[in-house]
Amino acid sequence: MLYFDDWVIDELISMIDRGETHKNTSYKLGISESTIPNILRNPYNYRISNKKEYQPKVPLSTNVGPYYRCKECGHEVQMPCKICEIRKYTKFHRMKV
Ligand SMILES: [Zn+2]
Repeated sequence: MLYFDDWVIDELISMIDRGETHKNTSYKLGISESTIPNILRNPYNYRISNKKEYQPKVPLSTNVGPYYRCKECGHEVQMPCKICEIRKYTKFHRMKV
């Protein structure tokens, strides 16, 4: 199954709506011409955000302020603890895959 970034799917639909040919759309977005009718029939299936393993990139919080001893990992860090945040994230990620 092929997946495309959401903006690619949106652009594809809007190009076709504007009356662009499949050939032009294919050329501009780098999608095979034969795939375009399939995407138009069911765009939801081709969105990367619909892919089961897809995890949006979560930006880590920016820490400011004094250092505390983290109750969970014992490191001296600015709160919230980035070490624990990364550990939780990778653990979560591993479980999902
Ligand atoms: Zn910690």
